[in-house]
Amino acid sequence: MERTLVLLKPDAVSRGLVGEIISRFEKADLKLVAAKMVTPTKDLANKHYPPERREFIEGMGNKTLETYKEEGIDPHADLGTKDPHEIGLKIQGWMVGFITSGPVMAMVLQGPNAISEVRKMTGHTVPAKAEAGTIRGDYSNDTPTLANKEKRPILNLVHASGDKEEAEFEINLWFTKDELHP
Ligand code: ADP
Repeated sequence: MERTLVLLKPDAVSRGLVGEIISRFEKADLKLVAAKMVTPTKDLANKHYPPERREFIEGMGNKTLETYKEEGIDPHADLGTKDPHEIGLKIQGWMVGFITSGPVMAMVLQGPNAISEVRKMTGHTVPAKAEAGTIRGDYSNDTPTLANKEKRPILNLVHASGDKEEAEFEINLWFTKDELHP
């Protein structure tokens, strides 16, 4: 049995997709054990997307550079740098700005292999690459180059914990013990 943190980001809330997305998880037999609507503070957002986690920041920078390479576009023209850490920090700043811009529906889902099940149902980070049948594939169609040109994060509706360690950290960050129902 596992628990995982899911955030329906401000794009999911403003597009009225909260019910639809929760319904998919419930139908897949994942139990909702906690839920609340919050507009995150900058402090909470920075803890959720930590700028000091070098691996996470550089990972995002490197993934972005790969996309620019795939599309044959010069990243320097859009982003003013080719350094993965600097690019990652820029994206982190956009993510913090976006996630604090409106309400987020935060929840904890529980079930066998909940972490990987939810990631599978969520789909690829880049909506344009996400398979049909996944939440991102069915309801979003954004690309990193468009997002980076507009200096905003990729709009992909959902955040879901990546592994056990992340799930434990994120559940404790967003929920108190007594908000988690047995
Ligand atoms: P995931 O949400 O699939 O776990 P990451 O942890 O790599 O993906 O990134 C966190 C979030 O940051 C993504 O969901 C997306 O909203 C945003 N993001 C990631 N890479 C980029 C990028 N190159 N440009 C803009 N936003 C990005």
